Amino acid sequence: MLNLSLHQIAEIVHGRLLTGRDDSLIQHVETDTRHSFGDGALFVALRGANYDAHIFVAEAMRRGARGALVEQAFENPPPNFAIIHVDSTLRALQTLAAYHRQRCRARVIAITGSNGKTIAKDCLVALLNQNFRVYGSPGSYNSQVGVALALLQLDPETDIAVIEAGISQIGEMEYLQRMIRPDFGILTNIGAAHFQGFGSRKKIAVEKLKLFAELPPEGWLILPFDEMLSEVSGAVKNLPQIYRLNHAPELPRLLDWQSAGPNRSQLRLAFPSGPGASFTSEIPLNIDISWREIADTLLMAVSAAHLLGAPAPAIRQALAQFNPPLNRLEIWKSHSGAVFINDTYNSDPVSVHACLRALTRYPNQRKIFVFGGMAELGDAGAYEHRIVGEEACRQNVSVLLTVGEPAAETAATFQNLLPTAQTVRCRNIDEAEAHIEQLAGANDVIVIKGPRHSHFERMVQRFKTRLSNSVYYIRLARIKSNIIAMKELLADDVKILVMIKALGYGADAAQVARYLSNERVVDYFGVAYTSEAIELRYGGLTDPILVNMVRREDAYDCARLDLISVVDRADVAQALSEAAQTVGRPVKVHLKVDTGMGRFGVLPAQAVPLAQYICTLPMLELQGLMTHFSSADDPAADSFSQTQLDQFNTVIAALQQLGIDPPLKHAAATSGLNRLANSHYNLVRIGLGAFGVYPSEAVRQAVRLTCAVALVSRIAEIKEYPAGVPLSYGRRFYTQRPSRIAILAIGYHDGLRRALTNKGYVKIHGQCAPITGTICMDFTLVDVTDIPQAQVGDPALIFGEYNGDEIRLEDVAALIDTIPYEILCTLSPRIQRLYVSE
Ligand SMILES: *Cc1c(COP(=O)(O)O)cnc(C)c1O
Repeated sequence: MLNLSLHQIAEIVHGRLLTGRDDSLIQHVETDTRHSFGDGALFVALRGANYDAHIFVAEAMRRGARGALVEQAFENPPPNFAIIHVDSTLRALQTLAAYHRQRCRARVIAITGSNGKTIAKDCLVALLNQNFRVYGSPGSYNSQVGVALALLQLDPETDIAVIEAGISQIGEMEYLQRMIRPDFGILTNIGAAHFQGFGSRKKIAVEKLKLFAELPPEGWLILPFDEMLSEVSGAVKNLPQIYRLNHAPELPRLLDWQSAGPNRSQLRLAFPSGPGASFTSEIPLNIDISWREIADTLLMAVSAAHLLGAPAPAIRQALAQFNPPLNRLEIWKSHSGAVFINDTYNSDPVSVHACLRALTRYPNQRKIFVFGGMAELGDAGAYEHRIVGEEACRQNVSVLLTVGEPAAETAATFQNLLPTAQTVRCRNIDEAEAHIEQLAGANDVIVIKGPRHSHFERMVQRFKTRLSNSVYYIRLARIKSNIIAMKELLADDVKILVMIKALGYGADAAQVARYLSNERVVDYFGVAYTSEAIELRYGGLTDPILVNMVRREDAYDCARLDLISVVDRADVAQALSEAAQTVGRPVKVHLKVDTGMGRFGVLPAQAVPLAQYICTLPMLELQGLMTHFSSADDPAADSFSQTQLDQFNTVIAALQQLGIDPPLKHAAATSGLNRLANSHYNLVRIGLGAFGVYPSEAVRQAVRLTCAVALVSRIAEIKEYPAGVPLSYGRRFYTQRPSRIAILAIGYHDGLRRALTNKGYVKIHGQCAPITGTICMDFTLVDVTDIPQAQVGDPALIFGEYNGDEIRLEDVAALIDTIPYEILCTLSPRIQRLYVSE
């Protein structure tokens, strides 16, 4: 409750009250007319990049708002409706929030960081709840507007407020700091989220630390154990006491983390007993194994709760009950071609909205939303379910399927707003499943969102297993973090091109590109053939795409679809110029120089005349110069790679002499990027490394990547044989002992190389099972004699990293004398691709 008169508000925000009774009381503010307007609401008309809420002032009035805060003149307001005029409604909203925060007695703890802010906040609120009156910002309200709204809801009686702060570009944190004025702080980590708005990790760190620039002397700040942060925080003035996570003696420590049965793990935390900090009370705790990935985030919350005085037993109890709102979208394509997006990990407002937002990545497809409702919302339940209906409408959902009573509210709202769409209320999960089966077609994207541990999860499981026996998992977030890990090695001005030729190294180029484009970690995409680029464009990708192999016949497509063409021939350049004139838009080209790769490219001697010729052609823009290494992965060939660079540099210099200086110059792929620091120029082309696979051992020495893929098959059948029995074609294996042999549902057609016969192995229940006998087209035999718990249906890891097990693809390739590239890109279409974004 704000309890401020219009007159007071106008004064606080330095606005002019144009009409309305100035003594009427305002209790809360709203920025969105879709929300309910209670008594005493003030509508704040914000302007964004794509919208201007001033057009909703009339709607706010109709819905009972007492007045509006606006930046532009408003014609003929009714006498009982107040208009407060300000220069910037956003700044006014923030000023009001800052004012309200200052008059509340709560101690405020601010949380920022690249990942895990919301989980840390929710967890901290849960940990403090027993001992304090706590308030946490709702959902992930962490933006310029979100923080203001979160603060404006702060109750004067609250003891501790936990406020989340997020920024999307440099310069924003100052405003958040002025509003929040935190007493304490947590910085979860510095990843490279929203990378393009920022530049380097250091810059991000400096910007984020601004939130804590004016902590009071008795305040503190918890930082992760990160070298770069220690360095940077040393340079920031006026920081108070800093505690480094898991290192400061005043903080609880994580002693260990072990598996404790299926899906459970046990962690032991040690708490310092007092200021003297000897570790006494240890807390063993059984929690979900998937929490492991967010261990640091949870430890942040535990540490803060401890410093704020929550007793260890209360922390333990709350932690055991805490349910982190993880968002784990799984995406796959069914045989019918429909894209499934599943998140049945949990169901709460934040994750439901995140799930629906994933639909924006599929602009041209019919959208089907299957919703099982949200649990444990109490009084807010009906309201939150209506909001989901509104969001579904905004995302242009064509078919809404709901299951269960709570979601009926969503169905009603959706139907009201969008009567032309189809709304189906299913009585149970079987009905929903039958509907989905019937509906799902090639142009559909189907979002499934239901509560965890429900029939929903089992339905999704059935969809997945029916699809295919072998699944290729692609962890999208890891691809992103690999790219970021490599970006760390580059100067700030070096741009990133991700090569997604060969179906994105077997992963499906469109899916990977869509994700990376959305995450804004990539500046350019690259493909081998024009046809691959056409597919990406038709799939809705609007980012710049470089095509490596352009023929004359491709010229028109390149011009029409705004593709950047690699050229090494005059006739192709000429065709592109003609196509550009036809289309009426310049075509960008990169001239490729062959400095020793011996494939495409002009030889250095002809590079200058060709570049000059290109410059004479109308509507052709020479945007780049490039070359390609033949042996950058190999330290023994470094002097050769150096001569390649020397020749490239000579061409660059010769062209500069003539006043030809294309803005982009590039040479390095994964190997060059990681091994040859002078090969970066201002663009690098990353392929294999993005997937967390190393081109060679030498590259592995140079950078740490995380394997982002895993090929997993299943045991189709298990047989028992006595000793001395021949197995599979050609009798290339005889059992040496009484043996249990598992037949896996994968063969050389799928991409499991036949050369691995009697050489390779798979992992089942974390143990190695050798491949025995000839690998068949569709099946492979492995020995599970020493893995007695192996059963039909169990997963078998073929390569990659899956559920904590790993078989390095590089090792598999070495066994049969090939390279990891070849194995990745020869996986057959029969294998189900499953994308996990977390
Ligand atoms: C494939 C390719 C790349 C990427 O190579 P990786 O070793 O997979 O990183 C870069 N540039 C060109 C021209 C390529 O063909």
